[in-house]
Amino acid sequence: MRITIVGAGIAGLATAIGLHAAGFDDITVYEAEPRLRSHGLGLNILPNAVRELAELGLLDDLLGKGLPTRELAMYNPHGNLVWREDRGLAAGYRWPQISISRSRLVMALAAEVTRRLGARAVVTDARLVGLRHEPGATRGTFTDGQGSIRDIGTDVLIGADGIHSAVRAALHPAEGPPPTNGMTLYRGTGWGRAFLTGRSMVVLGDARRRLVLYPIDRDGRTGEVLINWVAAFPEGDAGRPPGDLRGAVLREFGTWSPPEVDLTRLVEGTRHVQRHPMIDRDPVDRWTFGHVTLVGDAAHAMYPAGSNGATQAVVDARVLARHLATRTGTADALRAYEDERRPEMTELHRHNRAMGPEKVITLAHERAPHGFAHIGDVFSAEELAEISRGYAVAGRFDQGWVNSRPTLSVGERSPR
Ligand SMILES: Cc1cc2nc3c(=O)[nH]c(=O)nc-3n(C[C@H](O)[C@H](O)[C@H](O)COP(=O)(O)OP(=O)(O)OC[C@H]3O[C@@H](n4cnc5c(N)ncnc54)[C@H](O)[C@@H]3O)c2cc1C
Repeated sequence: MRITIVGAGIAGLATAIGLHAAGFDDITVYEAEPRLRSHGLGLNILPNAVRELAELGLLDDLLGKGLPTRELAMYNPHGNLVWREDRGLAAGYRWPQISISRSRLVMALAAEVTRRLGARAVVTDARLVGLRHEPGATRGTFTDGQGSIRDIGTDVLIGADGIHSAVRAALHPAEGPPPTNGMTLYRGTGWGRAFLTGRSMVVLGDARRRLVLYPIDRDGRTGEVLINWVAAFPEGDAGRPPGDLRGAVLREFGTWSPPEVDLTRLVEGTRHVQRHPMIDRDPVDRWTFGHVTLVGDAAHAMYPAGSNGATQAVVDARVLARHLATRTGTADALRAYEDERRPEMTELHRHNRAMGPEKVITLAHERAPHGFAHIGDVFSAEELAEISRGYAVAGRFDQGWVNSRPTLSVGERSPR
């Protein structure tokens, strides 16, 4: 069976690895960019996806490239702690949560794809620009940077081409561009002193603004950590030309005090600051049309709250591979994948529009806008725990489920 994957991000590469582990070996990943992404911003991968990556044999490699997240702590801008919880192994999961540079993760996945499938399995400088169905095959048209055109016939085509997916646009031509909630994201990484546990993820916020910080690397010699930071706020005129990006962040957050972090030094010391609108996708009622389906952000792009976008892309990859390997008809297998994943992702998307677990920060601001002496005056412990647990259950990354559910591995691989 010829399988074509469009997009060599986390979703596309994890899908290629998952399909190979499930017994397929005629797989090609086409990537629009001339090179795989090398920018170094951070991601947290939750234990449900780390379990999948571990079952694909990648855990040691990824732990060597990132840090196991120890805790999540959320504060209001006054520095009052609203909620903290253990994460990963410390929370009793059998698999860690991992804070990692996105480029390191992509490069590790790409190396695994070429190790399993050969160097020609990832084709760069190949942008999908057209998709059509013919009897017996789906055909994709790709162009390179010189304008050369390549027409490829395939038995299955998987759109893993992100929030601006060309595959999704071909399946849903009336959809238009992704909507924004009016927030602008500023992001960067910079070296600084380790804070809290040295492996803490910290989120500060009020009704609308958010500041997220966590380390993704540690210098064993100096003990300093590479801090990934994201600052989000309603900028008003997100379309204006970018000016002094560091100044814009410090004007908005300069008086905030993340615990044990010198924010001014961190932002001023950040070499590259990225700025873009916060966007997602409205859920669609179909991902699968015949032998074509969607995974990752192409299927279910959501706001970056709760560390779930890439996490769920990895789970998509494994569920899709399992259905393709265990069902007889290809169209049935793709539909079964969608039937399992789409309702769950639509529900999680609904939570993320309310900023997922960060909802507690918004509530804390509404109930005590000037801060509080005791969190017990603002929330009961049960209410806070329930918000956290409800989100984990919606994303199916709650500890009970992750630790005990059956594996998605198909068993001994045999070439198909
Ligand atoms: C600020 C921020 C923080 C985040 N933090 C987290 C986090 O902590 N944890 C988490 O799990 N998720 C997080 N996410 C979400 C996560 O980044 C995405 O969900 C994830 O990267 C999606 O992976 P993907 O492979 O589906 O898409 P992408 O990473 O967008 O990859 C798509 C690939 O397809 C290629 N492509 C596009 N069009 C074409 C085409 N026509 N033909 C061929 N190739 C094409 C692109 O070049 C790209 O390489 C965050 C997102 C943001 C914005």
